[in-house]
Amino acid sequence: METRTDIEISTGDRETVVDITDEVAAELPADATGTCTVFVRHTTAGLQINEPEPRLLGDIEHAVKSLVPADGWDHDQLDGNADAHLRSMLLGRSVTVPVIDGELDLGTWQAVLLVECDGPRTRTVTVVVE
Ligand code: ZN
Repeated sequence: METRTDIEISTGDRETVVDITDEVAAELPADATGTCTVFVRHTTAGLQINEPEPRLLGDIEHAVKSLVPADGWDHDQLDGNADAHLRSMLLGRSVTVPVIDGELDLGTWQAVLLVECDGPRTRTVTVVVE
């Protein structure tokens, strides 16, 4: 049986990385076995799986910023956030994780990370289990 829920995640800075593993895991039916797709419903944020070690989260922020220069984009004439759209595009908007008996079957050091590129905002993340 497929389930689909939306969760709201508030971010605190323009660029930040938030570990949302617990929020995603809370949406899994207790007996679910299959796959969980996590999808961020925005064009200026991304999702990744990596280690939620605090210094690494800062490194991810810096690395993502370094991939795309902040200025010089045409879209900035509209709302000044072209860099965030382009960073989101490189990160991707979804991850898929196996689910066994209602739990995310992640590797030892893995977590589901929301990468905010144009915060602070409240982000909607869809969790589908099938
Ligand atoms: Zn924009």
